[in-house]
Amino acid sequence: MIKTALIVPKGSKYGKNTYLKTFLEQNDIVSKFYGAWETPNLSLLTIAGLFPDDYELHFIDEDHGERIPFEEHFDLVLVTGMTQQINRAYEIVKAFRLNQCYTVIGGIHATIYPEEASKYADTVIIGEAEPVFDQFLNDFSNMAARKIYKAECFADIRKSPVPRYDLVNKSLYSSYSIQTTRGCPRTCSYCTLPVMYGSVYRCKSVEQVMSEIRAIKRIEPNPFIFFADDNMFVNRENSKKLIRAIEKEGIIWGTQTDLSVAEDLEILQLLKSSGCRWLFIGFENISRSGLELLDARKWKANLVDRYQKLIDQINRSGIYIWGSFMFGSDHDDSGVFENTLKFAIDNGIYSGSFTIMTPLPGTELFKQMEKNDRIIDYDWSRYTFWDVVYKPKLLTEEELAKGVAYLYHHFYSIDNTRKRMGNIKKLLKKHGQDE
Ligand code: SF4
Repeated sequence: MIKTALIVPKGSKYGKNTYLKTFLEQNDIVSKFYGAWETPNLSLLTIAGLFPDDYELHFIDEDHGERIPFEEHFDLVLVTGMTQQINRAYEIVKAFRLNQCYTVIGGIHATIYPEEASKYADTVIIGEAEPVFDQFLNDFSNMAARKIYKAECFADIRKSPVPRYDLVNKSLYSSYSIQTTRGCPRTCSYCTLPVMYGSVYRCKSVEQVMSEIRAIKRIEPNPFIFFADDNMFVNRENSKKLIRAIEKEGIIWGTQTDLSVAEDLEILQLLKSSGCRWLFIGFENISRSGLELLDARKWKANLVDRYQKLIDQINRSGIYIWGSFMFGSDHDDSGVFENTLKFAIDNGIYSGSFTIMTPLPGTELFKQMEKNDRIIDYDWSRYTFWDVVYKPKLLTEEELAKGVAYLYHHFYSIDNTRKRMGNIKKLLKKHGQDE
């Protein structure tokens, strides 16, 4: 057997923003909301599904507290990592190489900076692994693996394997993720998704998704499933078929989508009856001019006048909204924090993520910031969405770091949590729905 480790490096859960860190680490209400997101790394579990039977696989999740057994010898070590985890990923492969293990790095950061990653790992996989992984394994078994593997096209995800959920230590997780689609046709300047997955929207078959749900149920009979698509309902007709099939599985679930889903009342109804509890929606900014700066095609900006109505429709259908807001665009001044807080509470946003705009490598935003000499920190471990790594325009760095902390303090205060829940309950009562 070929002993293989698949390793998730430790990331920085709440960044180094001192105004925020202590509060987030010690606040019970925030921990309760964020606890719903503890899922094992789906990319590595999917890659695990590509190995033949003569590989002995060990899934090690340092990001959820598992110790990496550096003293053990593995024939092959695969590490993935987002930008904020990459320094740790490099430390891990360096340590295993000293122990004569063959090392591979993949993931979004290695895709953007393969030259950087190849200084540390024996092999770098650029982009999606599926199209090149058989070739890599073949070369590896012939001791002829190349330095770089790069797919010529995006993966046909209808052929992707069922992720190996059976490899995880299930006591570490509160939910499991499944990806039903990849790619997004929108063009938000801060998003790495088009770089990794492209703009063509690819969907798995309904049967494939059902097999994945059943694989999870074999290890956790009553799971909470997080559909980790970046934007789940772009293809509405496909989505409806899928949701009807999910309903038969009797699970509870949540997902990520854009707000335009609220325009389709049939989907909202199906979501509720199929066990969908919440939708994670990226509002990013509550002003049209703020959004225009983030998306050259103004797709999100054109929705902003309907934000309130669309939120109301989702709330009325009995599904909670997890709103995501991002601060520090060139339009944001010191008033943005209070205005957003009021908007989120008044509109019954159930839970919120308040992040600092982060120019991730590979994005249009990063290119613009670099061109204008505005990046102030190239320490990748600070690209967490909680730390300021660039020069904001109408705010100081300190105001931005403090402003996001202000939002967490106030949005998740006991009084405001009651107020938000009260607003949602009133709305549900008015429309004759269960809470
Ligand atoms: S809609 Fe979401 S997934 Fe699509 S490009 Fe924008 S931020 Fe990325």
